Amino acid sequence: MSEKIFLCSICNINSGTCLEDCKFCSQSVRYKADIERYKQKDMQLIKEEAINARDNGALGFCLVTADKGLNDKTLAFVCKVAKEVQAVAPELRLIACNGTASVEQLLVLKKAGIKAYNHNLETSESFYKEICTTHPWSERYETCQNVNTAGLVLITGGIFGLGETQEDRVSMLNSLASLKPTSVPINFYHHNEALELSPNSLEVDEALALIKLTRETLPNAERIMVAGGRELMFGKRQAEIFEAGANSIVIGNYLTTSGRAMSKDLEMLKKLSLDVAKKVN
Ligand code: SF4
Repeated sequence: MSEKIFLCSICNINSGTCLEDCKFCSQSVRYKADIERYKQKDMQLIKEEAINARDNGALGFCLVTADKGLNDKTLAFVCKVAKEVQAVAPELRLIACNGTASVEQLLVLKKAGIKAYNHNLETSESFYKEICTTHPWSERYETCQNVNTAGLVLITGGIFGLGETQEDRVSMLNSLASLKPTSVPINFYHHNEALELSPNSLEVDEALALIKLTRETLPNAERIMVAGGRELMFGKRQAEIFEAGANSIVIGNYLTTSGRAMSKDLEMLKKLSLDVAKKVN
């Protein structure tokens, strides 16, 4: 595994308008969580966020939309954003995360300059119906297969701390391995009081063991990324995620929750003598 740490920044270009019922997600309109909701983020703001991410060392910039999947309007908007961001920050590697997608839609994104697509399996196939009833896990798996078929870089991972068993975690990691992803983002459930799910009860040592298990189950993945919930889950022990096998993190804010200042993460990496990746294959 590379000792250089890949930094990624996420940009919620459409927020909080999803009709699905994923129980862990404050972006579903069903739970009325107190979050910002908008159909399309202002283009100038997106470009400023891209420049700021690049200037703080991010290589990946992920364009996220809150919806079950791509439709013509969303696809056109993501392509437009991709082109505008490339014009102001061509060094960024553009990632799209827009839910279920067909091979044809993914090829349109690819043509617009998107290099990678993120679609998480979230949890095991059998536990998925406990956390989402509006679409099946199989559609998620199929989208990941479509990403591979379209020749985009596949980024797929999941979320721990939803009430799943260890067996579910192992099952999800094996499913992820079968898709041969380049990057595996793992999230730790960050509870919002509007959501029905119980708060994440994982202990830090258990969460570190899950990073290690992810690394062991996916030895060929180029990156194991600790994404949402990092600050809340690991607190003062965040530095230990790298020893456990992570070599990528999300910097800055998450979709609906605030991260810590990007400069704090850069300071942490410096203290650990870990270099920031400046390019990606
Ligand atoms: S489909 Fe995505 S955005 Fe919609 S509720 Fe589920 S996780 Fe949230």
